Amino acid sequence: MKPGLFDYFTPTSIPETLELLREYGGDAKVLAGGQSLVPMLNFRLARPAQLVDINHVAGLDGIAVEDGTLRIGAMTRQRTLEANPTAEGAWGLLHEAVGHVGHVQIRTRGTVGGSLAHADPAAELPAAVSALGATLVVQRADGTREVAPEEFFEGYFTTSLAEDELLTEIRVPAWPSGTRSCFLEVSRRRGDFAQVAVAAVVARSDGRVTRAGVALAGAAASTVQAHSIVDGLIGSEPDAGTIAELAGNFAAELDPPPDIHGPAEYRRHLARHLLQRALAEATGTPGAARTSAA
Ligand code: FAD
Repeated sequence: MKPGLFDYFTPTSIPETLELLREYGGDAKVLAGGQSLVPMLNFRLARPAQLVDINHVAGLDGIAVEDGTLRIGAMTRQRTLEANPTAEGAWGLLHEAVGHVGHVQIRTRGTVGGSLAHADPAAELPAAVSALGATLVVQRADGTREVAPEEFFEGYFTTSLAEDELLTEIRVPAWPSGTRSCFLEVSRRRGDFAQVAVAAVVARSDGRVTRAGVALAGAAASTVQAHSIVDGLIGSEPDAGTIAELAGNFAAELDPPPDIHGPAEYRRHLARHLLQRALAEATGTPGAARTSAA
């Protein structure tokens, strides 16, 4: 199949892009890396009247650390993030997660912002930015808003982005030194979307957990944050039993949509084991990964 007819715009600045989105709104689509949108155009699952190609817009890509915050431009290629040495410590979770996205050819074109805006519930980057407590910067012609991941990811391929809004930047906060992170995924083949993936970040001081973030992909209609696990970890000195209990209780509450690769129970099973292993690694709790969660 070939795409339907559309007008094609190549703005070179953010204000120009925002004006186009204001003018054409719901009839227009933003084109970033095209790794999801172009197949949708070709299959005519998306039929925009205008395509706003943001590949030539200045100021939308690049990775920088400012005042302790990691700032990632929305048009930063996934491969650039994967190769960037600033994403270390807790931010290393982004490295781990992005390495699971498709194959190198896809990551070379695909963008960080495109992955978030596309909001595939099985995508890795939404889970990673959720666990890290990132802020998503969204602009429209008449203003800017900063959105937490939980307000951004609304459901199955759905975000809170309005038709005239552009995701411009992802800001990842600093975590204490010594923070540990872990990203684990089960997929049918290397490079496939996650059947289930878990992103976990844990900071400890004097043995006690002081801060944590845990999020899952592939376990619900949207990226899901494991608040009950975070609440259970904060202030504790977790051991293998605590981790097994938190993982088991959280997974039991999940209601993942079944698909051709397995029933909901299979995904709950994956979630429980991946959570247990990821939490063991992120908390630095030897033996927790091997404890059976009832
Ligand atoms: P595009 O395809 O250009 O756009 C996607 C959507 O986001 C469109 O609706 C577009 O309008 C919107 N959009 C893009 N950027 C912005 C922005 N800045 N502001 C507002 N809206 C915006 N992804 C995974 O996570 N995991 C995988 O394992 C995986 N495997 C893949 C395997 C294959 C074979 C292919 C083709 C893709 C795979 N992908 C996977 C998808 C890939 O990660 C895409 O890069 C990503 O989903 C979309 O990013 P993009 O930059 O290509 O966006």
